[in-house]
Order: sequence, then structure tokens, then C-alpha cells
Amino acid sequence: MFVQLVDVDMTYQAPDGEIDALRGISFGISDGEFVSIVGPSGCGKSTLLSVIAGIEPTAAGTVTVDGDAVTAPSSKIGYMPQKDQLFPWRTIWSNVTLGLELQHQNTPERREHVRELLERYGLAEFIHKIPSQLSGGMRQRCALIRTLATDPRILLLDEPFSALDYQTRLSVSADIYSIIRQEHKTALLVTHDISESISLSDRIIVLSKRPAAVKAIHTLEELTEIPPMQRRDHPAFRTYFNIIWKELDANV
Ligand code: ADP
Ligand code: MG
Repeated sequence: MFVQLVDVDMTYQAPDGEIDALRGISFGISDGEFVSIVGPSGCGKSTLLSVIAGIEPTAAGTVTVDGDAVTAPSSKIGYMPQKDQLFPWRTIWSNVTLGLELQHQNTPERREHVRELLERYGLAEFIHKIPSQLSGGMRQRCALIRTLATDPRILLLDEPFSALDYQTRLSVSADIYSIIRQEHKTALLVTHDISESISLSDRIIVLSKRPAAVKAIHTLEELTEIPPMQRRDHPAFRTYFNIIWKELDANV
């Protein structure tokens, strides 16, 4: 397994006591797999990503990525946090190369890689613009390119489409899906949208309410070869939707 979690617990030390966020979480993700996490609001989804990203420590259990125990952020892991906005006063170019600066990887080769990504995904002519001059979908593509700039092996995406309206979300999520596939990345996506998780993933992990535990794992065998938009017309789509809806609605 490329990513492996074994019996992971995580507890926040808040001023008025401890908050158990994760309880006994175990699962693996294979290289190249696209996995989604769904679960009730406040259950611990963002916490789970920050633990895998090495930003929050575990209270118990182990997280390994590509065979190495995760104890700090690493260049193998590209993390797009929930509130990750582009800086409004920076140009697109200086936004997408920000990660290179922060990770001291601002080399000519890396900059060339970013230039190729911007070219390939239709943003090359916008590099001197600022974010407010771009559409919501384009800004989302920029945020993804910023995460891809350091060439991570796995992408951790926390509700990347939640700020977009429904129509835009459909097309941007299909876009992002194809970028992740073309760049041969492993992906772990957090979403509260069941339809989105079914249309994008190979597997879906359903979490319980806080402290988050793994409630169910669904492998979408009939759908994995079908592109995101077309999955919505497949009979299995409804079936999975109803199963996951019930699991979340039971709210335990
Ligand atoms: P989700 O992403 O599923 O909505 P989170 O992982 O953000 O949930 O949060 C899980 C729980 O942990 C929530 O009850 C939240 O209030 C709490 N929490 C999140 N971050 C912190 C923090 N830095 N300190 C204390 N409690 C936190
Ligand atoms: Mg969250």
C-alpha cells in the first residue's frame, strides 16, 4: 500500500478540555488510486488529512506514505487545505510558484514544470493576471497546479469544489479528475457531496460522526473505468448513492 493508516487516534488539546477527533482509523491507498472520504460535518475529515499531511500529530497508531512514517510535512505529499485561497495581490505566476519558494525548490527545472502545467491546462496566458480576474474554475485549477508544482506523489484535497456553484463544480471536478489521472497521482479527496465522491473515486471511505471511525468502505467496481460525468447515468450510481446516504443519515 502506498499510504497506510493503522489504528490512528487523534485528540485536540483545546482550552476547555480534550476533543477526540479520530478513533482507530485504519485503511490503505494503493499507488495511483483515487479515494474519497465522506462523513458528517465536524466528524474529523480535515483532521484526517492534516494527520496524513504530517501537520497534526497522531495520539496513537501509525501513518506511512511510500514506506516512510509520517512525522512532518514532506515533499511527497501535496496538501490543498480547505481554506486554501490564492493570495489576491499576487499574480497567478507568483501564486503557483509559492510552494516552490516555501520548499526551497525554486529551480529552473521546477519552474519549467510549472510553465508546462499552466500551458497544458489552459492557464499560460493568464500568468500576469491576479486571481480576481479569473473564473472560479480557473482559480481552482491554479490552486491544483500550485500543489502539483513540487511534484508530490499523493494529493490530499479538502473539499476543493465547495465554493463553486453547482454547474461549475461539475465541470471543474471533471477537469481536476483528468489532471490528476494524466499526472499519474494518487489522490485522497474529502467532500461532503456523495454524488461527487461517486463520480470521481475508485473507492469511498465513509466516516462516522466524531470521533471519526471508518464506518464503511465501498469499491466502485462497475464505475472506475467510466469518466466522472458519464457515471451519473449508470444504474450503479443511484445504488451507491442510496447506500451511502443511509450510512450518513443514520448519523452514528
Ligand atoms: P470536518 O472536516 O469533518 O468538518 P474537522 O476535522 O475540521 O471536521 O474537525 C473535527 C473536530 O475537531 C470538530 O469538532 C472541530 O471543532 C475540532 N477541531 C478542529 N480543529 C481543531 C483545533 N485546532 N483545536 C481544537 N479542536 C479542533
Ligand atoms: Mg473540514
